[in-house]
Amino acid sequence: MVGYAGVIINSSSSALDRAFTYAVPDMIKDKLQIGSRVLVPFGKGNKRTEGFVVSIPDAAKGDVKEISSLCDDLPLFNEKDLALMERMRERYLCTYIEAIKVLIPSGITKGIRTRKENFVFTGEKIAGRYDKEPYRTIWETVSLNNGKFNKNKLADDFGLSLSSVTSMIKNGFLQQREGVISRYNDRSYSSYSKKELNPEQRRVVERILESSGSEFLIHGVTGSGKTEIYMHLVSEMIEQGRDSIILVPEIALTPQMVERFKGRFGSDISVFHSRLSQGERFDEWFRVKEGKVKVAIGARSALFLPFENLGMIVIDEEHEGSYKSDSDPKYHAREIAEIKSGLTGCKVVLGSATPSLESYYRAATGEMELFTLKERADGAKMPAIQVVDMREELKSNNRSIFSQELIKGIEECLARKEQVILFLNRRGFSTFVSCRSCGYVYKCESCDISLTYHHDSGMLTCHYCGKSRRLDKLCPSCGSKYIKYFGIGTERIESEARKQFPGARTLRMDFDTTRKKDSHESIYNRFKNQEADILIGTQMVAKGLDFKNVTLVGIIAADLSLNLPDFRSGERTFQLITQVSGRAGRGRKAGKVIVQTYNPDNYSIGYAVKGDYEGFFREEIEIRRLMDYPPFTEILSVNMSSEQEELLIKCIQNVGIILKNIVAGYDRIELLGPSPCMISKIKDSHRWQLILKGKIEPDFADYIRKTIYDLTKDVYNSIRVSIDINPTSLL
Ligand code: ADP
Ligand code: ZN
Ligand code: ZN
Repeated sequence: MVGYAGVIINSSSSALDRAFTYAVPDMIKDKLQIGSRVLVPFGKGNKRTEGFVVSIPDAAKGDVKEISSLCDDLPLFNEKDLALMERMRERYLCTYIEAIKVLIPSGITKGIRTRKENFVFTGEKIAGRYDKEPYRTIWETVSLNNGKFNKNKLADDFGLSLSSVTSMIKNGFLQQREGVISRYNDRSYSSYSKKELNPEQRRVVERILESSGSEFLIHGVTGSGKTEIYMHLVSEMIEQGRDSIILVPEIALTPQMVERFKGRFGSDISVFHSRLSQGERFDEWFRVKEGKVKVAIGARSALFLPFENLGMIVIDEEHEGSYKSDSDPKYHAREIAEIKSGLTGCKVVLGSATPSLESYYRAATGEMELFTLKERADGAKMPAIQVVDMREELKSNNRSIFSQELIKGIEECLARKEQVILFLNRRGFSTFVSCRSCGYVYKCESCDISLTYHHDSGMLTCHYCGKSRRLDKLCPSCGSKYIKYFGIGTERIESEARKQFPGARTLRMDFDTTRKKDSHESIYNRFKNQEADILIGTQMVAKGLDFKNVTLVGIIAADLSLNLPDFRSGERTFQLITQVSGRAGRGRKAGKVIVQTYNPDNYSIGYAVKGDYEGFFREEIEIRRLMDYPPFTEILSVNMSSEQEELLIKCIQNVGIILKNIVAGYDRIELLGPSPCMISKIKDSHRWQLILKGKIEPDFADYIRKTIYDLTKDVYNSIRVSIDINPTSLL
């Protein structure tokens, strides 16, 4: 029985970031718990406001208001989750409500519920009316398939128009009633049988199960059987009655990945990612909450699914940037997994062919156990990688985007009826369009970024805000007709490939071709069924895809990521080349990779080509040490943005002066800026940042947060402040 409850108000104002005490009315006394969602009177007008119970104090000071009502039957989080939320507040400088919102199913606060729908029940004829033409014959067909249909599906399945279904209902030939439906996709998958582990795999599985340690890193080349290891561990967990979460980067959560897991674990598994609708997410969340599933596979948000008895968290491709949240709280999945492990005792298994410098460093210093797998599990050979110096191509007068070597490779591959993947990490046709007479460059009006030309739509599009405009025939600045296209994107590669290899069938997989819900799956299936010879794509093709007939992978411009002004650019380049190369020769046939670059001597390209991760690590970690970058230091970025540029600059400069004074008192922390961000404007918002570098302790971070909050509370409505610990990029 409870008398009082501490309630966090659902409000984005940081001023309300504490629990408010309320009395619990008798009616809900035996139902209210930590994690209950409630409505409470709040503020001047005692407006009914949503809140979450985070404590159950014995007594209250002074007069307290009473909770108005309890919203759900079940609490949405428990005591352990509270501890997790506290840690998130410390680490990511977020508010309680921001932490709560990542833990509970999005949509529940907006009223999403178990879904009920009106179904048409066929085969239930209503006496005396079924012999009326023309409905009788159509009814006889439908009634054979006795069952519960949604109206659209009924129409589709039986080739009826919606209006005739409606009129059949109206005339009593079919009955319509309300029923509960799951938004969960329960189509069946072909079974994926358990593989006999090879000795290396078995050693890893056994060691992880018997070890008293909690964190493990599997560094295994693509195809070394890491996924098979995860699956064996999951089976073991299920046998022990424990739950598992498998995280894969959003982009790698391909139909194929899901197919493998569903094929092995059937409907016991929940799939959780951001393409699900709010309703689908809600249903999945509840399936977990009700203990109906033992395993979840998903993108980073799956980490917060409410498993009661978590035994293991796997983070596949742990180096991926998408494990870091890009909205507040800007958590990192690896860190959350570690916190959860501390709270629940679950094991954390990281896997990658190209571990992040941070994780490998921790393994190298003994904080995690390291396993190294160098061979492919199915006996396939690692592909041979060849570097082509594009400067030489230019010298020998080849102005095509394909080198002679790549053209030859593709031709040979096509002649053998094998498939090719061409990779470029940039979509669109041309990445900037400018006038040759006056130098005018088409830029987005709202962002500090040049527009990308899309040939398919004939539009110039901003990749930051999505705004589009038509391309003019003449230069808008000087009227000349010499408009020129610079920079290549996937669309351009596809068009060049069609010209160069006229007989070849191409497919493209990038953001533009995968906007529709199932288009990713459809492109994947078409390529797998060999309905195309060449697949062109962005990093979407670099992850998780496994095509047995692909024997050549062409990396069109390995330097793209090298030229970013970011301390992780070397690491990204190494990762991309390695990951993309991993797509070649996954079957019995030997694979080959051709890497085109203007920087053949760059160390990250060199080590990637040799497949020498350790060599790369040794060189890169020394650079990080020398430059004082992560993992040797932490970075706290304070990003402020506003449509009012002057106000923004004044405000951040003021913050800068105060922080400078604070930082002066700490000898291991350095302040950089304030300065405009690399991309100084996005969606009409000007962007500035301050960077703190050094040993960032929770106390210090909290102090910084409070200071910044204090200094900006008066401009709360005009300036957005975002604090990020160890941001993935500083652009
Ligand atoms: P990774 O996750 O490291 O890329 P996978 O687990 O996907 O590797 O394995 C690569 C390929 O090898 C897959 O086709 C998989 O079915 C196969 N494979 C994995 N382990 C074994 C094994 N022990 N015996 C036979 N084939 C295996
Ligand atoms: Zn824009
Ligand atoms: Zn011009």
